Amino acid sequence: MFPDNKADIPFCERIFCNRSLNMKSIKAVGFDMDYTLALYKPETFEKLAYDETIKKLIEIGYPKEICSWEFDPKYMIRGLVIDKKNGNILKMDRHRYVKVAYHGFKELNREERRKLYDIENVIVYEEPHYALIDTLFSLAEAFLFIQLVEFKDKTDKMNHKSYFDLYSDVRMCIDLCHRDGSIKDKVYDNPSKYISNNKNLVSILKDLKASGRKIFIVTNSLWDYTNIVMSYLCNTKKDSNQEWISLFDLIITGSQKPSFFMTKNQIYEVDTKTNYLKNTDIVNILNKDKQESIVYQGGHFKLLHNMLGIKTGSEILYIGDHIYGDILRSKKEIGWRTMLVIEELEKEIIATYELKEQYILCDSLNEKRVLLENEFERLDIQSREKGATHTLDKNENLDKKIKKVGYDLLKLREQEKKEIRNYHLGLHPIWGELMKTGRQNSRFAAQVENYACLYTSKLTNLIHYGPHKNFRAVRDFMPHDLDE
Ligand code: IMP
Ligand code: MG
Repeated sequence: MFPDNKADIPFCERIFCNRSLNMKSIKAVGFDMDYTLALYKPETFEKLAYDETIKKLIEIGYPKEICSWEFDPKYMIRGLVIDKKNGNILKMDRHRYVKVAYHGFKELNREERRKLYDIENVIVYEEPHYALIDTLFSLAEAFLFIQLVEFKDKTDKMNHKSYFDLYSDVRMCIDLCHRDGSIKDKVYDNPSKYISNNKNLVSILKDLKASGRKIFIVTNSLWDYTNIVMSYLCNTKKDSNQEWISLFDLIITGSQKPSFFMTKNQIYEVDTKTNYLKNTDIVNILNKDKQESIVYQGGHFKLLHNMLGIKTGSEILYIGDHIYGDILRSKKEIGWRTMLVIEELEKEIIATYELKEQYILCDSLNEKRVLLENEFERLDIQSREKGATHTLDKNENLDKKIKKVGYDLLKLREQEKKEIRNYHLGLHPIWGELMKTGRQNSRFAAQVENYACLYTSKLTNLIHYGPHKNFRAVRDFMPHDLDE
């Protein structure tokens, strides 16, 4: 029934393993909802967030002309960092070296980057001065921010606002759009316009349940919205018949992740017929006779463990899209096993494959450069040693050779740089490869490696694997392993 043989699974639909995970030890499988169970269409959903945010900005006094601006859903990628004070967006490698930076729509050159983000300054890229684009929800706000930076630079209409103010205004307005119904009411009216059809979802949930696992949702969305989205995804009628609920053992809405993993938030029972919240407590929750619903709002992970009969965090596999809210905290604080959904991965894997020749070229240029650098160093040492004892003539020949090798090296370095850039631009015209910065892993890739036991492009890739699959990590690799 399950191909489960790697060769039969398209590479871009595989589940990749950073840390070995035997599904036999997993007693409960949990799901985040937005961008995990429900995949949104960025060209409509993020555009909606963008358009509604613009309306709100105009309401708080921004010039009306911004309502003609267009959103480009492909411009931003995950893993970038917003420098609020300087109006810049940064892409960095796993050592926090800023390799690509834009001010508005203008790329900063190496000197400009170094001046601001010199590695020696050991900048901590965190709130309140920096904002992380670590969920697809942030793509619209990041794009709008750089449009405003550009607008401020090119007109005198924003002189009264700093770049920091622009960011704060965008954040405040987009936050409001998520909370006041500006976005959710539209999704409610026409879910198929905004949410992709996640085929295979129901059979995956049923297979997992049939394998003896408890199945649960922990989402930050509130009940009414969760009900609309899940009804749509599971093909049940809007909010009237709530058949989809029976696919799950427990549904926690309004969970306030990541605080759900750290703080004892109040829990409420949700009356799914009236949408009212009822006070409840641990005694009621654990008394099955008193429990009318499996749907709650709030609470914390310890209650969830009790409700599902889980003894340790490592018995849970949680699948989410938010590296910080879903994955980092759940793994770090309570030892849940984790799977990160990286929707962009599928296209990136395909594009990387198409650019294989270019990648090979970059590698061969790099090898050549290393050889030439060694040659240059050897000649340099020779020249210093000979300088003391030999005649001028011989040294002159050596000097010529050093100059020639030095020149070749310079050219080779330029060519390598150009070809690496071309490779990256083939993957994304502004930011390059999601998982790499230059030849190093990107900051985002490093987080994936550290915190996601498994990662994949969409959760329905589970269809390719049996419910007792033993996912095995590839052997760790360090530079000294090269010459094995
Ligand atoms: P989850 O991914 O299922 O946990 O749900 C994420 C929820 O967070 C969705 O309901 C989003 O609409 C909501 N959300 C995303 N960004 C923001 C924000 O900036 N402010 C408030 N809610 C947000
Ligand atoms: Mg999510």
